[in-house]
Amino acid sequence: MPELPEVETIKKGLEKYLVGHTIKEVEVRFRKTLKEDEDKLEGGKIIKIRRFSKVIAIDLDNGYTALMHLKMTGQPLYRGPNLKNPPEFSAKVIGGVPGKHTHVIFHLDKGGMFYFNDYRKFGWIRVVKTSEVEKTKFIEKLGPEPFKDLTEEKFIEILSKYKTPVKLLLMNQEKIGGVGNIYANDALWEARIYPKRASNSLSLKEKKALFKAVIAVLKKSIETKGSSENAYVTPEGLEGKYQEHFLIYDRKGDLCTRCKKAKIEKMKFGGRGTYFCPVCQKI
Ligand SMILES: [Zn+2]
Repeated sequence: MPELPEVETIKKGLEKYLVGHTIKEVEVRFRKTLKEDEDKLEGGKIIKIRRFSKVIAIDLDNGYTALMHLKMTGQPLYRGPNLKNPPEFSAKVIGGVPGKHTHVIFHLDKGGMFYFNDYRKFGWIRVVKTSEVEKTKFIEKLGPEPFKDLTEEKFIEILSKYKTPVKLLLMNQEKIGGVGNIYANDALWEARIYPKRASNSLSLKEKKALFKAVIAVLKKSIETKGSSENAYVTPEGLEGKYQEHFLIYDRKGDLCTRCKKAKIEKMKFGGRGTYFCPVCQKI
């Protein structure tokens, strides 16, 4: 599932491509993706793109906002005058645009097109009043997130409050927004912390190291436009490159690049693949 760096990359792309376009018509080809009210988007000019954890908000000048969640395989794709010389789509854009996995199409002015592809069909677009975006259930429940309101102080406070295993706490969107499985794995290795340790058992030094690591891995991933191990692509239809920089995620059996003494191990934890170095990340 796309995490903070992937959604941030998409947000930056949409800022560049969509802002200034007016939506002429919204074509819904699969009703579950956009259930109702698409007519409220029609005629609206896109003035701002915002991100709340993994949700993208497309604000219009008519008081309405389209909220978009990619879930597992959602792919927002742009073609039009703001993207000169568009690259060829990655093979991950199955069926192309518009194709059999294109469920919603925004027909924009000046010949612009915005497609929402999603082959697993869990992604969604909802129409809400701009004034109510922050009050929608999904966004209201989000915890503070890195680069926004999650300070080191706040992070330490959250970790100290719970005895939840630290990896599960990092991934709990209601406690900390935006961090998912890949970046939780990499940050814990970077900070030399075993993923199953109780959050409140970490020393102050460890909590500080973990905060630094979370910020560092997210930053590195944003720089490389996210990781495309699954369906994620940018609005241009290109893959990210963070998978070439995984610290520990998906590296089972590789020699740990730091201690060079042990091979990376993998266990299932909280239903997700969890990687650790038995030497660097002591139980
Ligand atoms: Zn190691």
